[in-house]
Amino acid sequence: MNQFSKAAQHERCSFFGNVTLGSSVSLSELRELYHVVVLAYGAESDRALGIPGEYLSGIHSAREFVWWYNGHPDGKNLSPDLKSTDTAVILGQGNVALDVARILLQSTSVLAKTDIASHALEALEQSSIRKVYLVGRRGPAQAACTAKELREILGIKDLYIHINEVDLHKSPEDEEVLKNNRIHRRVYELLSKAATSAPSHPSSSQRELHFVFFRKPDRFLDSGEGSGRVAGVHFEKTMLKAVGPGKQIAVGTGSYEDLDCGLVLKSIGYKSVSVDGLPFDNEKGVVPNIKGRVLADTSGDPTQLEKGLYVCGWLKRGPTGIIATNLYCAEETVASISEDVHQGEIASTSTFPKPGRQGLLQLLDSRDVRAVPFSAWEKIDSEERRLGSLRSKPREKLTTYENLLKVATE
Ligand code: NAP
Repeated sequence: MNQFSKAAQHERCSFFGNVTLGSSVSLSELRELYHVVVLAYGAESDRALGIPGEYLSGIHSAREFVWWYNGHPDGKNLSPDLKSTDTAVILGQGNVALDVARILLQSTSVLAKTDIASHALEALEQSSIRKVYLVGRRGPAQAACTAKELREILGIKDLYIHINEVDLHKSPEDEEVLKNNRIHRRVYELLSKAATSAPSHPSSSQRELHFVFFRKPDRFLDSGEGSGRVAGVHFEKTMLKAVGPGKQIAVGTGSYEDLDCGLVLKSIGYKSVSVDGLPFDNEKGVVPNIKGRVLADTSGDPTQLEKGLYVCGWLKRGPTGIIATNLYCAEETVASISEDVHQGEIASTSTFPKPGRQGLLQLLDSRDVRAVPFSAWEKIDSEERRLGSLRSKPREKLTTYENLLKVATE
């Protein structure tokens, strides 16, 4: 946030909040207004599993759940039912899966001191969920999470952790992966330690976290009462198949197993969305590009460039990587822009001036879009901190557009 504020406060940076690409302003309008447009809007949709029952109630994407507990205005109405079941299944074993498991399992007295949205805290205080299953289609040597995040969840006070010790068996291919990849090695070591140091049974008051490996979801089970509610997940057991150096994929064994639960969070990856006029690779969910330069189509032909249009972050690479990864990714895109400016690939600002900021403001004004400047964002920030201090938390999120705009314009 500090880095972000520093950039936004720079005299050559203008911040226009409350502006939606595609409805407030179109991409072609933006490209008419500016010599260079960089799209960095990430991934705000979800990958789908494409299996039966996926749309039963009680099944949410992890992204929706994260938006809900983080107070995103578009996620506040999710209202996940945490009271009708004691068991949640999380599909996927990446860092997002760990995040949502941590929120379900952490004591609410600890969560109350964070900036979690109040509506989420209240729901979690009444939650009856005691058991969380984190299910991966591959093994502990392939788990997608990283050590710091794993340590955080394993360190939750008074949490019973269960890992089937037979799943920790390493094949020669696994040994190779672990030898060559420090992150996977650290994660594997942490999981092994947790498996061997856990008591054999939970105490009656303990919440439970079960790591389940080698299972892929085959279909969701309906409660059968005509309610359309999920009652469990039908999994196919898997084994690993080597498909190239250091790469093993999960393949079904034809043997199945059910896991009963009343809540499912699908944490199998985010997906970017396209806007009108943007070349988009629907298969990969990214904008076709070379080092951030947007290509006219998905053929990969480097001569077919959308001049002046660039991309970075998850929209450029897909939804992987931590904040530092995005830093390098942005540097690469900026280097491409600099190179194109120096080589005259982008229309010169003196020969072909464009309206820029003034033009954008005029356009937004003509559409009654209330653009929020950075000084107004700072008002929201300080109001959230003030409200937070009343409850001994770092901030209290404003969770409706109405309230956000009210504070912004006060
Ligand atoms: P991710 O790391 O790519 O993990 C996705 C998980 O879903 C993997 O376990 C994957 O298994 C599984 N999966 C994918 N398709 C599946 C399918 N069809 N059936 C069953 N399982 C499937 O994605 P993420 O957790 O959404 O995280 C996105 C990025 O944000 C990651 O780079 C993550 O590190 C980062 N992040 C970082 C933090 C942090 O730094 N604190 C917090 C949150 C997120 P396979 O491995 O078998 O494909």
